[in-house]
Amino acid sequence: MPVLVVLLIVVGVAVFLPRPMPRITAAQRRVLERYFLYYGRLGPAERARFERLVMGFLHSKEWRGVGVDLAPEMQVMISASAAQLLFGLPDLTLAHFDRILVYDDAYRSVRSGRLHQGEVNPGQGTIRISWAHYLEGYARPHDAHNVALHEMAHALWFEDIVPNAEDDFFDPALLARWKALAQDEIERIRARQGGLLRDYAGTNQEEFFAVAVEYFFERPADFQAELPELYGTLVALLRQDPLAAPAPIAARP
Ligand SMILES: [Zn+2]
Repeated sequence: MPVLVVLLIVVGVAVFLPRPMPRITAAQRRVLERYFLYYGRLGPAERARFERLVMGFLHSKEWRGVGVDLAPEMQVMISASAAQLLFGLPDLTLAHFDRILVYDDAYRSVRSGRLHQGEVNPGQGTIRISWAHYLEGYARPHDAHNVALHEMAHALWFEDIVPNAEDDFFDPALLARWKALAQDEIERIRARQGGLLRDYAGTNQEEFFAVAVEYFFERPADFQAELPELYGTLVALLRQDPLAAPAPIAARP
């Protein structure tokens, strides 16, 4: 009996041990070096952390191309957008969202019936994104339109709220401060007295956060000049400051 029991125990342990995360390949690193500006500005230790976040995101998701052949580079780039947003936070993979659907272009949303460039569905645990609009977002890095950062920001917002393996990471006092400042600005936008952020930010707290993240990374100087308290609170929430380039302030690995 002992042999069989020992064998079963060994097999059991082997099955339940977490698999080591695959290391980044040379080809994946080349994609980041060539196309991802944020990564290019990091020092060696920070690059290693960024790569870990990319791998953590990429390998924890089920990926599907819809009307597009999903090339490995696309997975690296979309994962890099998540890593950009997650860089200062404790190691997160946006675990609640386990399926990424990549569309060739804008697509008609089943939920809203309208054409979408991207969408986050916390009920399904899915993030959808149009590849054409992904590319547009990074082709114009200073126009504060970036659909990947926008959708990742939605996912991050829900990740904190929805019970999951890594929820509740935002400091509650900071988050409360953010929501209060955001509500003031939402009301100003609705009254046509808003400052910098585009009108869509006035839709609700979720959209306000997602739009603010786009401005945070693409027009940080304007954001800080026009809405300094909101900007400072977002720096504290995300634990990084795009104005502190080339080395973002971030939690150490
Ligand atoms: Zn949105």
